[in-house]
Amino acid sequence: MPVRTGKQYIDGLKTRSPEVWIGGEHVDDVTTHPALSRSMEQIAHLLDMQHDPQYAEALTYESPKTGDPVGASFMPAADRAGLEKRSECYRLWAAETFGMMGRSPDSMNVVLLSFAEGRDVFARGGERFAENMVGYYEYVRENDLFLTHALVQPPTDRSKASADQTEEFLHVGAVRETADGIVVRGARMLATLGPVADEVLVYNLPLLQPQDTKHALAFALPIDAPGLRQICREPFDSGGRSAFDHPLGVNFEEPDAMMIFDDVLVPWDRVFVHDNVAISNAVFPDTNLRNYTAHQTAVRGLVKLQFAVGVAIAMARAAKTDQFLHVRHMLGECLNYVEIVRSCILSAEMEHETTRVGTVRPRFEPLQVIRTMLPEWYPRVVEVIQTIGAGGLLAMPTAADFSSAVAADIDKYYQGADDRPTEERIKLYRLAWDLCGDAFGMRQLQYERYYAGDPYRAKAMNYVTFDSRTCDDLVERALGLAERLE
Ligand SMILES: Cc1cc2nc3c(=O)[nH]c(=O)nc-3n(C[C@H](O)[C@H](O)[C@H](O)COP(=O)(O)OP(=O)(O)OC[C@H]3O[C@@H](n4cnc5c(N)ncnc54)[C@H](O)[C@@H]3O)c2cc1C
Repeated sequence: MPVRTGKQYIDGLKTRSPEVWIGGEHVDDVTTHPALSRSMEQIAHLLDMQHDPQYAEALTYESPKTGDPVGASFMPAADRAGLEKRSECYRLWAAETFGMMGRSPDSMNVVLLSFAEGRDVFARGGERFAENMVGYYEYVRENDLFLTHALVQPPTDRSKASADQTEEFLHVGAVRETADGIVVRGARMLATLGPVADEVLVYNLPLLQPQDTKHALAFALPIDAPGLRQICREPFDSGGRSAFDHPLGVNFEEPDAMMIFDDVLVPWDRVFVHDNVAISNAVFPDTNLRNYTAHQTAVRGLVKLQFAVGVAIAMARAAKTDQFLHVRHMLGECLNYVEIVRSCILSAEMEHETTRVGTVRPRFEPLQVIRTMLPEWYPRVVEVIQTIGAGGLLAMPTAADFSSAVAADIDKYYQGADDRPTEERIKLYRLAWDLCGDAFGMRQLQYERYYAGDPYRAKAMNYVTFDSRTCDDLVERALGLAERLE
């Protein structure tokens, strides 16, 4: 089947009844719920772009199975040009949402590509698991399904292994096997866009302990599998906010959900890892998953960073604070981050590696620099927006004020120093507040800190895994200088 339209995606959601809870209420129809339908519309729009003559070539490639156009983010790369094609697909979708929607469909499509190319890792548990994985990759690609994922055990007690929590299946684990599959029980987080996804993919971070055998799983399920429940966080906007007041929030809020697996049957052909801690812990390093995912997230992160830095610059120009040296210093610092991220992406693509199946993947280290530094740089850019916007961010009126008795005051007292009309200046500050002050912006910040796991431990791992031989050699040579002086 060729790539789907937005309507086909929404029609597909209407055929299912996932169990979703928001604010203590059961959601009868995710496609019409005010806290969910706007993110669904955004996903539909991204899918529609695949049919738009302006984008279709960049966003699709020819299915090796049917010859139909399928999503470019599923495409194995034969060379650097292939990586650049994937990169352009990521960029086009990210630009459409200003980088605000972290879990656009490409984010999981490329996970499946890495698993299909790293099929030998799943085969360690038996050839059928590798066949399941490749079959699932092809199924999702050919049907253009939209996946959510839930990798993280809930933070019940982080000092203990999954098997040692107060109950054996607080964290998702296999309760029993049947002739049809495995029955799983427990909770997982944080399924962003889960309520409007077609399927959920579950696998583990490489953190399992030897006693976690029953929790050593990877599997996929339709989002309405019997016994699968989603409990959403409190929405920031249940449909009542104005697009003038919250231009980003009303458009790009992604719901996040805790997933509860209440004795859910996973059919055998959807099981990829079972009962094996070593394989589960090998999935991340040995499929080279992060070479693929960090490429997509880096490109999306670059768009978001460029946008946020653009907002900081526009605000400084609007009040002419960009005339002051320390403000220029902050803006220069932010532009440095943009340039470093852009350069790391280029370097990862240029210095690509060959995979075990003869394709190429971007180099890991430059992408990992982005992954472990953006959790500091993005919050810093947000801080710069707060610092430049200062009290002005809190002084801005709402859309309603424009049609009230104080409208004349607004025209007069809210004008800026550049040639932007007053209304445009207010829009800019409201946009900035959505990014740096509103609950929507605070979630965006928390997302950049944690979407790829704990940045503190990840950065510490860079010390263990990065090649420091050049640094070490220089020190050894310099130590030789002392000998020469004697
Ligand atoms: C907005 C948002 C959206 C997300 N979307 C998704 C999604 O779609 N799918 C998905 O699977 N996940 C998603 N995540 C979850 C994300 O993967 C986790 O938040 C991330 O892995 C960090 O785990 P945690 O939140 O449990 O933090 P923890 O790992 O509990 O860390 C919390 C703090 O405790 C410290 N800490 C905890 N354990 C240890 C330890 N053993 N050793 C040392 N320090 C420790 C950490 O350094 C950190 O400071 C999302 C997260 C956010 C914030």
